[in-house]
Amino acid sequence: MAGLPDLTSELTGYAVNQIRTFRRTVDKSGGKGRYHAMSIDWQLLGRSPAVTGVEIWVTQQHARRVSIDRSTFWYDTGQRRLLGLSDLFAADAWPGVRRAMVHTLSAGGGPAGTAASLSSQGAAFGFTATGDLAVTLTGGGARPGSGPVSLRLSGPGLASRLSPGGLSVRASAHIAAGGGPASAPDCSRHRCLALTFDDGPSSFTPRLLGILQRHRVSATFFVVGDRVRQAPDLVAATKAAGMEIGNHSSHHDDLRFLSTAAMRRDLEDTSQDIARVTGHPPRLLRPPYGARNRTVDEVAMQLGMAVILWDVDTLDWRYPDASRLTKTVLVSARPGSIVLLHDAINRSTITALPGIIAQLQRRGFQLVTVSQLLGTTRAGHVYRRR
Ligand code: ZN
Repeated sequence: MAGLPDLTSELTGYAVNQIRTFRRTVDKSGGKGRYHAMSIDWQLLGRSPAVTGVEIWVTQQHARRVSIDRSTFWYDTGQRRLLGLSDLFAADAWPGVRRAMVHTLSAGGGPAGTAASLSSQGAAFGFTATGDLAVTLTGGGARPGSGPVSLRLSGPGLASRLSPGGLSVRASAHIAAGGGPASAPDCSRHRCLALTFDDGPSSFTPRLLGILQRHRVSATFFVVGDRVRQAPDLVAATKAAGMEIGNHSSHHDDLRFLSTAAMRRDLEDTSQDIARVTGHPPRLLRPPYGARNRTVDEVAMQLGMAVILWDVDTLDWRYPDASRLTKTVLVSARPGSIVLLHDAINRSTITALPGIIAQLQRRGFQLVTVSQLLGTTRAGHVYRRR
């Protein structure tokens, strides 16, 4: 961070530590031809003369196991130090706030012993545009295998309990840390559009989520069952970021060539995999290749899913050209459009996405999930746009 040497060294130290941990895990595995990958992404959460906030996402993949660690760094320029969650509150208000948070977490099935993690490591926090405090526990703070745990603190009493540092953080923040996108608009009255990402989760997913969150927009991810089983943490992170999860089959087969029984088992397995991570089965199916017939629609109906196709095909998997992709979306997008993109195949999708979102927003589009776009959907019905 230019002009903030203390913050820069904190961030560097954090990144170096993460890389060290990653190397140690790789060494321990003995190399045996297993797949290892790591990525570090960051975004600015807030900036003012008083405070600067940075969020860092570390994604590690070791063979089939994926973990995402999100950390926030709120640096107080006057005090020249990082602010913890407790620093946001007046000294006499913090114990009560902490009690309330622990209560909320355990009522929501959260882990016992979260109190310690609320105070320090493992908690990412920031404020939403409406002034709510959003806290996400990952890594050490969340129960292993449970994915991130989020909570929000709002209400008229919140402001009166904040410390001067907390008020500065709130004033500087323009993006929620761990908070979802802004609340959904009424798409019968607004220019809505749904971006959809197929074939994930993948090593690209964290980057896509970072971009979507930075712009405070929602999207829909149609995931493949095999990959959900390999990387449940990525699906949990997608859900926690306020995105919708849809079914894209177990193995990405053309469903028309499966027997009815095999098709049913394939889709049911994926819905169960998704439900295990997100808490409920998906209500949307996107058949691979958009290939469907009456049997596909019937099975979708039996499993309670609407069939979601698209009216804007970006062909992002075929052309690795970000400017071509941007042009395709902007030329074809209309209010009510469903735009087909991919998670997993092409880096150009990541390169083009920030520009696509910014230009669509400039044209008055609100970017929402498919369910928000369509309102109520009927199981077994086919939708290409609103
Ligand atoms: Zn696909």
